[in-house]
Amino acid sequence: MIPYGKQDIQQADIDAVRDVLESDFLTQGPVIQRFEQAVAQKVGANHGLATNSATSALHLACLALGLGQGDWLWTTPITFVASANCGVYCGANIDFVDIDPHTYNLSPAALEKKLQIAEKERRLPKVVVPVHLCGQSCDMEAIHALSQRYGFFIIEDASHAIGGHYKGEPVGCGRYSDITVFSFHPVKIITTGEGGLAITNNTDLAQHMERLRSHGITRDPNLMTHDPDGPWYYQQIELGFNYRMTELQAALGLSQLDRLDAYVASRKERAEWYNHGLASLPLTRPHQHPASDSAWHLYVIRLNQELTPKRRQIFEGLREAGIGVNLHYIPVHTQPYFQTMGFEEGQFPEAERYYAEAISLPLFPTMEDTSHNHVVSTLKRLLSQ
Ligand SMILES: *Cc1c(COP(=O)(O)O)cnc(C)c1O
Repeated sequence: MIPYGKQDIQQADIDAVRDVLESDFLTQGPVIQRFEQAVAQKVGANHGLATNSATSALHLACLALGLGQGDWLWTTPITFVASANCGVYCGANIDFVDIDPHTYNLSPAALEKKLQIAEKERRLPKVVVPVHLCGQSCDMEAIHALSQRYGFFIIEDASHAIGGHYKGEPVGCGRYSDITVFSFHPVKIITTGEGGLAITNNTDLAQHMERLRSHGITRDPNLMTHDPDGPWYYQQIELGFNYRMTELQAALGLSQLDRLDAYVASRKERAEWYNHGLASLPLTRPHQHPASDSAWHLYVIRLNQELTPKRRQIFEGLREAGIGVNLHYIPVHTQPYFQTMGFEEGQFPEAERYYAEAISLPLFPTMEDTSHNHVVSTLKRLLSQ
């Protein structure tokens, strides 16, 4: 089976992890900080905070921004459930903003309309989580302008988008948001096995997330309610978690980061092959907004409307031909868990239409030319049946 995504592990990665195994620290050592600084530097931001997953990083980001009971978090329905669950963890209410029919990212126009209504109803969001679907940045300038007018924080869920650019700057630079989150799950652009990272230019947010990552404990006497009992003393000043990344993971991430640009270039090249190979078929290829330079985590096609009744058959036909197609994503508001919050089908029509038509094709840096040709010829055959 050709998978839809796959990690690339080279000897340098194995050596880096082995070096850590032979060192004094398996966790809470020097490599984590090196990794954090390297990612921050790569994307042009001040602070990076590595975590055991992007989900944890999203949770820390929400907490550091003060999201709590009675607050609202808005995100897109076309995302992984974690983009919404981070708000649920904080006791906040969740709502969704429909997608742009071309980029499939959260639509700034739909956001503006929803904000106008929410302002009248006095239920404006505290946090909005735009998700850079498939690696293509959302229209962050427009979303940022709305955040200034309506007073909400922005967490960019850039789980797909490390290595991508928006208006010539790296995703994660923080020009248009408070915090950006990356994922290092093996299907993503670079991997640490499991892992994530929160990026910010705000020192207070960075320090707060760091404390929450490790139990809410501090060793800074200035933050304690009384003088330290002795040199051993630490104080828990709030409720935190253990969301730390290990040194092994950080070493793998650091080694992978060296190849980030090459990975993105290779993904882009493969996406262009698909664009070329699929040009005459009755489907929509990924639309690229001129301001965004995608990291190409995913290559999603949309079948033309007349083919949507056959989508399942085509999907199964691809799987039967050994092609590990996937579907990103089931609209979050249609999940039974979210329907208990009162969401209904039909509420976000663009997202639901997308869901009826989409298929994610295999795309990863080490994909063979023969695999690529197999995908294209199989799709041709299935679509002409
Ligand atoms: C993968 C992913 C996450 C979660 O990442 P983990 O590192 O697995 O926790 C969150 N949001 C999106 C959009 C993702 O694709």
